[in-house]
Amino acid sequence: MQSKFSCPRGTTDITPFDISRWDNIERISKQILTCYNYKEIRTPLFEETELFARSMGQSSDVVCKQMLNLAAQQKDDQDGVTLSGLSLRPENTASVVRSYIQNGFDRKEPISKLFYIGPMFRGERPQKGRLRQFNQIGVEVLGPNTAQPYLDAEIISLSVHLLKSLGLEKFQLKINTLGTPEDKENFSQMLRQALKPYRKELSEYSQQRFERNVLRVLDSKDAADQEIVKKVHIGLSYLSTESQHYYAQVKEALMNLDVDFVEDQHLVRGLDYYTHTVFEICGSSLGSQDALGAGGRYNNLVRQLGGGDIDAMGFALGVERILLALGDKEVPLSNPLAAYIVPMSEEALNQGFVLMNVLRQENISCDLSYKYSAKLKNVLSNANKMDVHTVILLGEEEMKKQCVTLKDMKQKKEETISIKGNDFSKIINILKERYN
Ligand code: AMP
Repeated sequence: MQSKFSCPRGTTDITPFDISRWDNIERISKQILTCYNYKEIRTPLFEETELFARSMGQSSDVVCKQMLNLAAQQKDDQDGVTLSGLSLRPENTASVVRSYIQNGFDRKEPISKLFYIGPMFRGERPQKGRLRQFNQIGVEVLGPNTAQPYLDAEIISLSVHLLKSLGLEKFQLKINTLGTPEDKENFSQMLRQALKPYRKELSEYSQQRFERNVLRVLDSKDAADQEIVKKVHIGLSYLSTESQHYYAQVKEALMNLDVDFVEDQHLVRGLDYYTHTVFEICGSSLGSQDALGAGGRYNNLVRQLGGGDIDAMGFALGVERILLALGDKEVPLSNPLAAYIVPMSEEALNQGFVLMNVLRQENISCDLSYKYSAKLKNVLSNANKMDVHTVILLGEEEMKKQCVTLKDMKQKKEETISIKGNDFSKIINILKERYN
C-alpha cells in the first residue's frame, strides 16, 4: 500500500510494533522517579514565545534558530482567538518554572521535585538522533534555599540510575561548574581574553558568539573552532572560594554514591540560565549527536521570570537517543501479553471469546485469534509473531474433554487445565500467579 502522505520531516510514528519499548521506558522511569519522591507535572505543549526567549536567552541557538512558532493568525471577534506570539515548547524547564510561579508551588511545599515525560519541538535540520519532534524525560527540583551539593549529586545520580535501569551501559558523565553569575561573568571575560588572538580564525558564527555570548564558542560543533578551544586553558580560577567549595562537595557526594564522572572544563551548556553545576551524559555508540541527556543548576531563573528567590536544578534525557543507544537490546521489564487464545473450530471460537472476556474482567491482559484455523502450525506461527507469555489452545480434543492447553511460550512447557462447567478459576489463578 502506497501512502500519499508521509509524516513531516524530523518526526516519526511510534507504531504498535515499537510501543512496548516506549511503554517500558516510561514505566521504569516513573517507578524510579516515584521512588526518589518526584511528582509528575504536565504543562501545555505551547507557551508564549517570550517565555522561552527570556529563559533560554535571546542569543541561544534554540531561540535564534530552532523555535517552531505558531504562525497562523486565527482572529475571531467573539472569543478573540489568536495564535501569534506562541511557540511549541523546545524544552520544558521554562514551562515548569512558569507553572511553579503561576501556581504558587512555593506556598504549598518547601521543595518541589517534579518530573515530566513528553514531546519537545525544535526546527533543527533532521539527522540521525536529531528530530524536530522528540521526547524527553526530565526533572526539575525547585524550592527556596535548596541549593545544596547533596541535592545536585542526587539529581545527577538519578539521571545515571535512570539510564542504567533502562539497560544502558556505555555512557560517560561529564560535569563542570559555572559558579555564581559573577563567576560566570569572570569566566566570560577570561575566555574572551584567551580567545582574542584566534578571533579571526573562528567560524563566522563563533565570531558572533564571541561578541554576544562568548561561552557559547565552547559549545561550537565546528571542527576548527574546537581545535582553537582545545588551546584555551582557564582552569577554575574564575570561581569564588565559595563556589569552589560547593563544586568540591558535589564531586565528593558523587564519589560517595559511586557515580563515575569526568570533569570537563569546556562544558558550559548552550543556555543562559545555568549557574553552578552543569552536566552532560554522552553515549559512546551515538556518533555526532551523542548527548543522551544534560542538565544543571539554574538558581536565578525563577526570579528572572517574575518569581521569588528560588533555587532550582534539573535535567532532560532524550528518549529517542536512549532507544538509538540501546539498538536491538531489549528494554528491561518487557510487558508482553499474558495470554493469547487460539480457537481451532467455530465452537471453540465461541468458548474462547467468553474466556477472553472473563480474563479481561480479572485484569489479565489477553487477546484472541478471531479467525479459527484447524491447522496447529498456522495458529502457532501467528502466536509466535506476538510477544505473548502463554497461548491458550482450544483444539478439537480440548473441546471434547472440556479443557484447554496452556502453552508457556517462554519456558516451552505445556499443561492441560479443565474448564468443565465454564469454570475458568484454575486458568485465572495460574495466569495471575505467573504474570501479575
Ligand atoms: P538539551 O535541552 O538540548 O540539552 O537536550 C537534552 C537532551 O534531549 C539531549 O541530550 C538529547 O538527548 C535530547 N535532544 C535534544 N535535542 C534533540 C533533537 N533535536 N532530537 C532528538 N533528541 C534531542
